[in-house]
Amino acid sequence: MTKEIAVFWLRRDLRLEDNAALWMALKSGFEVLPIFIFDRAILDSLLNKKDARVLFIHQELTRLKAELEKLGSSLWVFYGSPVQAYEELTKKFTIRQVYANRDYEPYAQKRDREIFEFLKARDVEFKGAKDQVIFEKSEIVKDDKKPYTVFTPYSRKWKTTLNEFYLRAYPTQKYFANFLKCSPFPMPSLGDIGFEDFDFEFPDRQVDIKIIEQYGEKRDFPAIRGTSRLSLHLRFGTISIRELSSMAAATSEKWLNELIWRDFYQMILYHFPHSATSAFKPQYDEVQWLNHEADFQKWCEGKTGYPIVDAGMRELNQTGFMHNRVRMIVASFLTKHLLIDWRWGEKYFAEKLLDYDMASNVGGWQWAAGSGCDAAPYFRIFNPESQTDKFDADLKYIKKWVPELDTKLYPKPIVDHKLARERCLAAYKAALK
Ligand SMILES: Cc1cc2nc3c(=O)[nH]c(=O)nc-3n(C[C@H](O)[C@H](O)[C@H](O)COP(=O)(O)OP(=O)(O)OC[C@H]3O[C@@H](n4cnc5c(N)ncnc54)[C@H](O)[C@@H]3O)c2cc1C
Repeated sequence: MTKEIAVFWLRRDLRLEDNAALWMALKSGFEVLPIFIFDRAILDSLLNKKDARVLFIHQELTRLKAELEKLGSSLWVFYGSPVQAYEELTKKFTIRQVYANRDYEPYAQKRDREIFEFLKARDVEFKGAKDQVIFEKSEIVKDDKKPYTVFTPYSRKWKTTLNEFYLRAYPTQKYFANFLKCSPFPMPSLGDIGFEDFDFEFPDRQVDIKIIEQYGEKRDFPAIRGTSRLSLHLRFGTISIRELSSMAAATSEKWLNELIWRDFYQMILYHFPHSATSAFKPQYDEVQWLNHEADFQKWCEGKTGYPIVDAGMRELNQTGFMHNRVRMIVASFLTKHLLIDWRWGEKYFAEKLLDYDMASNVGGWQWAAGSGCDAAPYFRIFNPESQTDKFDADLKYIKKWVPELDTKLYPKPIVDHKLARERCLAAYKAALK
């Protein structure tokens, strides 16, 4: 018989410290082999083969593999479908248990059900753990046990339910001796999985405590470094949400609230998977979008003639990041001023954002379009000019991304604000009759 082992399947939790499923695996009594699967179903859907997120994952896996090899173990990285990977693994080892942290996206849920069945048929247990959120699924529900759909009461319940138990780190290091002892596995290069290697500077993983302390006052101004820039690390689990939430609980309630929004949107996507592709409030699917391709193109390129919108889109195109205040402004502009379907914008963000996360992105877009849970009412339409006056009064952010602002090269506004506002109100009113 081949060696009996437990497998720890890394997905959006790329770290060995304070990792729930890894901790469970290391305590299972079996030696633990960590694996990662570059899933072709996901990679093939990425059209741009110079993708910084794939680069980031590859870099992080290289780092983890080196850490594991120092411990006398290794990381087995597959390229293909998860079923293929498990078929290969079962040929080499007698797998008794597989551990993974839960993922709440519809595709991941389907994939995990398939793997569960595959493993069950081979008498292998598949064990899930909660790791990427503080509260999941139905841990925070209304008194009638139904999921919340409004943020404020959800966050209140979230805070009163929170105690030290939920914030405690999983002491994985204590059990590192339980990794499978093996010689290093070869790892596919970026080229092997169909992607390009290139230089890219990713945001730092360190938390800047000064930023967190001043978050309440500074978070809305895109010209200054007033937010943590940890979203990429939270997305791929290169930092622990428990560590950050403990820090937030002790330092800044405003920042804690943002982390709660993240839990909230994960919970919403889990309970209402239809919201990934259609309006959370179904009547909003009746809005007659104009969907002018040329307008959309100008929005994508940052050439709408609305400086704050253009600055945001250019920041996104050049860096893969956009400040939250500006995300709200550009999303409102696309859906309300240009009357373009929020799903077009959601898809564009999904291609470009380093921190792209289906739950938060869909949540943010539906919020801006007015169709989401707890969204701004549709008649509240962001005025790009007054947003600029409030949050970039000296035009520092705008001028950084739109240097030709005061020249003839800068385009005239794509649409008149007043006219766009009236057109939007009429379209939404007609849909919501
Ligand atoms: C239209 C739109 C699309 C968005 N798409 C995404 C996305 O794909 N991925 C993503 O992580 N965030 C998304 N957000 C939320 C938010 O803009 C980013 O999380 C934030 O700008 C990241 O910067 P930061 O790490 O400096 O955040 P900070 O302000 O320091 O916040 C700390 C963390 O809290 C979480 N967070 C903050 N704000 C929100 C929020 N409104 N909703 C959910 N989580 C939040 C993030 O994980 C963030 O890293 C979107 C917002 C809008 C309006």
